[in-house]
Amino acid sequence: MMLISVSRAERLICEALPAPKTATIPLSHANYFVLAVDIIAKRDYPPFHRMTKDGIALSSSCFAGYGQCMKLSGYAQAGKPQAVLEDATMAIEVATGAPLPRGTDAVIPYEEVEKQAEAVILNTDHVRVGENIHPQASDCRKGNVLINKGTIIGSPEIAILGSNGMQSVEVYAKPRIVIVTTGDELVSVDSNIKPHQLYRSNDVMLLAALQGHGFTSIHCTHVPDDASLLYSELAKTLDAADVVLISGGVSKGAYDFIPEVLKKTGVKKIFHGVSQRPGKPMWFGKKGRKLVFGLPGNPVSALTCTLRYVIPALKKLSGYSKSHCVTKTLGEAVDINVPLTVFLPVKVNTNNEVVPVSHNGSGDFISLAESSGFIELPPETNHFYAGECYRFIPWRASCQC
Ligand code: AMP
Ligand code: MG
Repeated sequence: MMLISVSRAERLICEALPAPKTATIPLSHANYFVLAVDIIAKRDYPPFHRMTKDGIALSSSCFAGYGQCMKLSGYAQAGKPQAVLEDATMAIEVATGAPLPRGTDAVIPYEEVEKQAEAVILNTDHVRVGENIHPQASDCRKGNVLINKGTIIGSPEIAILGSNGMQSVEVYAKPRIVIVTTGDELVSVDSNIKPHQLYRSNDVMLLAALQGHGFTSIHCTHVPDDASLLYSELAKTLDAADVVLISGGVSKGAYDFIPEVLKKTGVKKIFHGVSQRPGKPMWFGKKGRKLVFGLPGNPVSALTCTLRYVIPALKKLSGYSKSHCVTKTLGEAVDINVPLTVFLPVKVNTNNEVVPVSHNGSGDFISLAESSGFIELPPETNHFYAGECYRFIPWRASCQC
């Protein structure tokens, strides 16, 4: 196994990524997708002079001063066509969201008037033209770009797309992902477990990590350490998936069949082995547009490699252009005695610095529950001082600590 550096592994994965594909999907499914086209406003925003207060509308030129009494003429309701104030010496009651009545140019809220049966007393000493009116096209003009291509869709974009009368939207497609767990010792959570067996957890762990980053097309399957079963399952999986994540079976053990089975299925190896801890035996390859990540089965390794390599790759495949790199400051000194990149589980303290959590080696995933994520310590030095900044990746996507 020839080890390559973390940065080389990252570059090789990046170079292997196919160009993102586009798809038209319903707006209700578009959260976390990336827009593949500019969105053009189909109408003005707002589409008419929209009133922003409940109250009365009037012609400002007829305002005579504090205490003026004006007769009321009708009611301009939201959802009704534009009302008309025929007599400029009168006022008209109005609702938020309704078009400004023709013949008026200012709105006074109910808080500043005293309403009588058929009239209002104006308890204000000034009326400005355009007051409490959101002018037509002031936010965006029909035909202009509402949202730029490449924008990640979130709740605000969904609102804008919906308001533009769009039931569907053109986005970059998300990859179909299959998680294949391997290991004879691993049984499903509903099994009657024997003393020498373990419940498998990498499938649900990786599923959660992927879902946390907005990936939803994920299928899980488990295969024993049997070369011919692995061959038939992986051959089938490669037909159905864009990206395959395999957990376990990539180390040097007698039952670690993944590299040879992948070779047989026609997946071209790009690298096997990265000078990192945890995750040294990580495998990566490609068959046509399909990517295969062979993750070491140790849960800490599998999760670390997924967050460090797989998620950024899946995001680029889905049209994300920026992958922002968060750094955090070490709150205490750390000594590392291996010439490898070390991904160290840490907790974020109240000063927003990171401090290592105690753990029993890379097989201990119980200690992860009290950690926030990991920092990446480069291989060039053994001593890392408090106050230095390093790349930080949180375990939990929506939460930084
Ligand atoms: P492997 O990479 O197959 O040699 O597995 C390394 C270690 O991770 C072994 O102790 C496995 O039992 C454990 N392991 C592998 N897959 C899983 C899984 N899906 N859930 C929990 N532990 C696992
Ligand atoms: Mg195994």
